[in-house]
Amino acid sequence: MFTWRACSEALPTLSNLQKRKVVEDGHCPVCKTNIETLGHVLWGCCATRDIWGQGCKKIQKMLVHSMNFLGIWDQLVKNLQQDELEEAAMVARHIWTRRNEFVHGKEFRHPNSVLRRAREDLQLFRRTKQTQLTNSESHTVSINTWKKPLDGNYKLNWEEAIDDARGKISVGAILRTTRDWLLGLSELGNC
Ligand SMILES: [Zn+2]
Repeated sequence: MFTWRACSEALPTLSNLQKRKVVEDGHCPVCKTNIETLGHVLWGCCATRDIWGQGCKKIQKMLVHSMNFLGIWDQLVKNLQQDELEEAAMVARHIWTRRNEFVHGKEFRHPNSVLRRAREDLQLFRRTKQTQLTNSESHTVSINTWKKPLDGNYKLNWEEAIDDARGKISVGAILRTTRDWLLGLSELGNC
């Protein structure tokens, strides 16, 4: 989501705010030498280069210059594996967070701190994704591994619904036997 907003130039850089006449000066609040576009703040600014310079080796070797982040992201997509791309997206998000903290008067965090937090968040993101995947797989397995009852036995699944307005209970049931016979029935009775 953050990457999409960055590629769409939908974040409030000083350049964007200047275009909307919200601020008069669109220069980068960190280096104060370039206009603060998303390409600059997330990639080209000297303070940002310090962060990318300690990250993925492939990124360190990339020579990309663009005023907009879309051109940079396009190159990242072409050069990086999926896991490296995920890390790049998380690092970019944390670079933007650091910039916002600085603009709002907080301490300008060290590049190592930005990278460490980005990697911690990425691990958390991946763990959460894995847990969701495992849960959905185990749910699927439990459905697919339903076993027939043993000889001479049957399994009954049933569900009830109460109709308050009519004062009735509706019961639906499926009976499964060893020979895969399926019997369905529903009854209506008084509550
Ligand atoms: Zn700058």
